[in-house]
Amino acid sequence: MADAISKNATQLWDYAANSPWRLTQKPFRVAPRVYYVGNTWVGAYLIDTGDGLAIIDTTVFEGVYLVLEAVRDLGYDPHDIKNILLTHCHVDHSGGVNQIKAISGATVWQSKEDTEFMNQPANQELGNLFKNVPYLVDAYFDDNKTLNWGEVSIRTVLTPGHTPGTTSFFITVPDEKDGTLVVGLHGGVGPNTMTDEYFEKFGLDKGLRQRFIDDCERLKAIHVDISIPSHPAHGDLMSRISQNPMDYTPLVDAQEWPRFLDIRKNFAAQLVK
Ligand SMILES: [Zn+2]
Repeated sequence: MADAISKNATQLWDYAANSPWRLTQKPFRVAPRVYYVGNTWVGAYLIDTGDGLAIIDTTVFEGVYLVLEAVRDLGYDPHDIKNILLTHCHVDHSGGVNQIKAISGATVWQSKEDTEFMNQPANQELGNLFKNVPYLVDAYFDDNKTLNWGEVSIRTVLTPGHTPGTTSFFITVPDEKDGTLVVGLHGGVGPNTMTDEYFEKFGLDKGLRQRFIDDCERLKAIHVDISIPSHPAHGDLMSRISQNPMDYTPLVDAQEWPRFLDIRKNFAAQLVK
């Protein structure tokens, strides 16, 4: 089983680096004002705030053109992206930052913790597979300051573990009938960077794994109507969506968020020796 998963991952990395068009995903709506613009391997989410566009994550350098095509496919203009928000600094999420910033002049947001971590050897791991493009961070998230843009508000929560500065997002959007919906995105749940071997290799604090586990439990208290993952496979996203790319309603399920957190928490707990 582990072998099958790693073979699959290796193949996806090869495609993402050398033939990214194989990972093309038609964009779809995950919530009012929120759209999936990533590929079949790694996510990126476009938010139409009503006062400019924001994008969460950028995929890899080699595949950022697919993100821009997806934005255009939805009828939006990549020049209108005002803010780029990063879940964490790994190159599969940040590899397209510079191009999107060059096109749009957008402000680049990341946690202070990952901005300090991003130039350390541990973050160069995927650098052999993908072009690692250094980027500048313009603004740090502040969990005490909700980002209010247009009709959308975004609350950030620092959730270390996968990286020291992984950030999760709680995006409140207007419901189409009345009221609001909360979209929850955990910024990074991959156990690959929470093993003892990894922590030892890079001199990182093993406490990061327990912090991840504790935070998964803590985050369950936040009500989330629509749970979206940073990699679609992590939350079985593609199996939960509608045939109609504009119909987000199959994703509305308040039980999915705690279920997802439990699954990811248990993966990390299995690494405890
Ligand atoms: Zn990562």
